[in-house]
Amino acid sequence: MLESLSSKVHDEERQGEAYRPATTESGKFRKKFYIESYGCQMNFSDSEIVASILQESGYGATRNYTEADLVLLNTCSIREKAEVTVRNRLQLFRQIKEDRPGMLIGVLGCMAERLKGKFLEEEQLVDMVVGPDAYRTLPGLIVEAGGGQKAVNVLLSREETYADISPVRLDGNGVTAFVSIMRGCNNMCSFCVVPFTRGRERSRDAVSIVRECEDLFRRGFKEVTLLGQNVDSYYWPDEANDRVVDFAHLLEMVARIDPSLRIRFSTSHPKDITDEVLYTMARYDNICRYIHLPVQSGSTRILQLMNRTYTREWYMARIDRILSILPDCGLSTDIISGFCTEAEEDHLDTLGLMEYARYDMSYMFFYSERPGTLAARRYQDDVPEAVKKRRLEEIVRLQNRLSLEKNKQDVGRIYTVLIEGDSKKSAGDWRGRNSQNKMVVFPKNGSDLQKGDYVEVKIVDCTGATLIGRLAE
Ligand code: SAM
Ligand code: SF4
Repeated sequence: MLESLSSKVHDEERQGEAYRPATTESGKFRKKFYIESYGCQMNFSDSEIVASILQESGYGATRNYTEADLVLLNTCSIREKAEVTVRNRLQLFRQIKEDRPGMLIGVLGCMAERLKGKFLEEEQLVDMVVGPDAYRTLPGLIVEAGGGQKAVNVLLSREETYADISPVRLDGNGVTAFVSIMRGCNNMCSFCVVPFTRGRERSRDAVSIVRECEDLFRRGFKEVTLLGQNVDSYYWPDEANDRVVDFAHLLEMVARIDPSLRIRFSTSHPKDITDEVLYTMARYDNICRYIHLPVQSGSTRILQLMNRTYTREWYMARIDRILSILPDCGLSTDIISGFCTEAEEDHLDTLGLMEYARYDMSYMFFYSERPGTLAARRYQDDVPEAVKKRRLEEIVRLQNRLSLEKNKQDVGRIYTVLIEGDSKKSAGDWRGRNSQNKMVVFPKNGSDLQKGDYVEVKIVDCTGATLIGRLAE
């Protein structure tokens, strides 16, 4: 249960979420598909691309798997727990299929490559296995699987970015949307399976990114989050204009769409985030003052084993730089406890670095060895599970304290909040975020505001997770 504590990027509440139908025109589609998504936001965003491809082939979404012709699980391999959850779900769907033999079951995403043989042949759990770069071939694979063959395509591509596919926003709030700007990862963090499951890094055509964001804005969306495993290494040669678009430049292109369209991005690798990106953020009020900068560990020795290519001191200097250019910037991070050989003093270095950075929020995990990674091949997973968990608990406890302290500093301040919808606890309250990505809840008080509106809110109280406010006069 303590494996992670998270919010927006790897949202525990959303794990296994099923998408709602995009359309109320029930007669529009011949068949129904059901899709559940796991893992990082990138996977949730991919499910929207899959939905678009399926709609073109006559499949409409359903939230009820018992009526689906096609059941898909978009999977994550990042930690063992994620894989165990998916396996349990597959067993359930397999049982349902016994009563509905025509129903097809498919595994998409990161587990596809790793476990294709096992799922298809050995355990016969699924009819289709489709890797993250093969979604365009889904319609053909469905036909193959429908004909009784085991359909599989897990080829990774050096080019596929799905640039021309307009994702179907199936389950959003109509205000905020995620836009993929690149795929894959060229870093080789020794603990991480992503470079193996999602392939080489490639950047999507900037023109198609801006077009997608403009289209979202026209449809009433007010916030886009640009997504990639390492957004700061975005690189797109714009041959028509004889220039190269880097991430700072892309941010500027999206920021110029309209001052009332907010821009966020995730994830930044500390080694790649440039001063130019920070100055671009400073120049545009609509680029949110929030950076997710995963540190993983506060110990230089462990960072070296993790192949993160920066030291503790270098990371601290990046934090200093961010706060000198953007003094009001919100900061969050990812931390792994109990990586191979981690000693008590390394763990204390992590706690010390957290105090230094004073993160507003963290995604915290204990190390889970993934087969095939550099760490699995080179190092022994030698920190006992009880120690990993105890250290994680200490990290979580410290983060809870830091989050509460940081939120208390906001009491008395006024923030511009983008309303995302009703508060989860009460329809009498609005819920939204400030530029720093903090959740703000405040009473509607009979005002004629709507979701998607910007509003000035004075913070009057807080918890560790939420700022509580009232409409500013
Ligand atoms: N590309 C991003 C980055 O470099 O920060 C994030 C990638 S990953 C989807 C999200 C987080 O999962 C990582 O930052 C790391 O903290 C965690 N993670 C990755 N592999 C892990 C493992 N083997 N065990 C525990 N946590 C892991
Ligand atoms: Fe994994 Fe590192 Fe790439 Fe992030 S940057 S996806 S942690 S290899």
